[in-house]
Amino acid sequence: MGRGPDLLNLPPGWRTRFAPAPTGYLHLGHVVNAIYVWGMARGHDGRVVLRIEDHDRSRCRAEYEQALLDDLDWLGFVPDEGETSEFRAGESLRRQSDNDWRYAGAITALELRDLVYTCTCSRGDIARVVEDRPNEELRYPGTCRDAALSPDASLQRRVKLGDDTERFFDLLRGPQQQTPAEQCGDLLVRDRLGQWTYQYAVTVDDLEQQIDLVIRGEDLLDSTGRQRALARLLGRRRPLLFLHHPLVRHPDGAKLSKSAGDTGVRELRALGHASADVIGRAAQLAGLQPTSAPCDARDVGRFFA
Ligand code: GLU
Repeated sequence: MGRGPDLLNLPPGWRTRFAPAPTGYLHLGHVVNAIYVWGMARGHDGRVVLRIEDHDRSRCRAEYEQALLDDLDWLGFVPDEGETSEFRAGESLRRQSDNDWRYAGAITALELRDLVYTCTCSRGDIARVVEDRPNEELRYPGTCRDAALSPDASLQRRVKLGDDTERFFDLLRGPQQQTPAEQCGDLLVRDRLGQWTYQYAVTVDDLEQQIDLVIRGEDLLDSTGRQRALARLLGRRRPLLFLHHPLVRHPDGAKLSKSAGDTGVRELRALGHASADVIGRAAQLAGLQPTSAPCDARDVGRFFA
């Protein structure tokens, strides 16, 4: 990366996280993310927290979590906090579904400041008010903001985000700016089933787990401004740093999750590949090395030194 260390400007022992959602099996796209996460941490005196992001109970499955722990162990990516044995042993502070009380506590603090309201709008209701453009995010127009609906009217809750433009620096992409009020409007933090949303759970976790640098795929770049705004409301003082890396695709252009036959970690393992071969191939797909030369998980720091 070349310009990493001086831009990081973080004290030794700074923290990042690997935060998969157990909604499927790990594939080479996850391995690329793991290379970035462990590579930056190992190359620059950081620490890695493993977090299981299973906030969406309807899509997550215990067997996927089990498989991802097995795959991480096999690959050799060892977290500094949240070792795989911790998750196998039972409840964990780093598994979202075990921590409803933490998310409920954080929302209470916002409620006391009149920043949270009940919302009864469905996606269809919103689409009738704002223009629904294909492939574009639907912006919540604030219909229920001043309606003072009873908490019993729906389990859905939104947080008032304000109109500020969020400016932040991405370690790979440089200066960025986003205005959540134009992208998404007031943020949905709990859905109609009572599940905490990704945006909310990840922001609470990044704050409480004292994460300094978020390293993730560029598909989540648009979420960053709103997460920063929400984190400030939740009391974050020192802003998070971000690195959004390119996503890798199957050579035929398909999403990796849809072509697990030759890109799934467990399939490659069953075919007899060694973990260093899988990591080497992922590093090549990500453009981190010119060939698929094998690379041990303990050595990925070299891509970012
Ligand atoms: N859980 C998300 C995923 O598996 C990652 C979220 C994040 O890094 O903010 O894609």
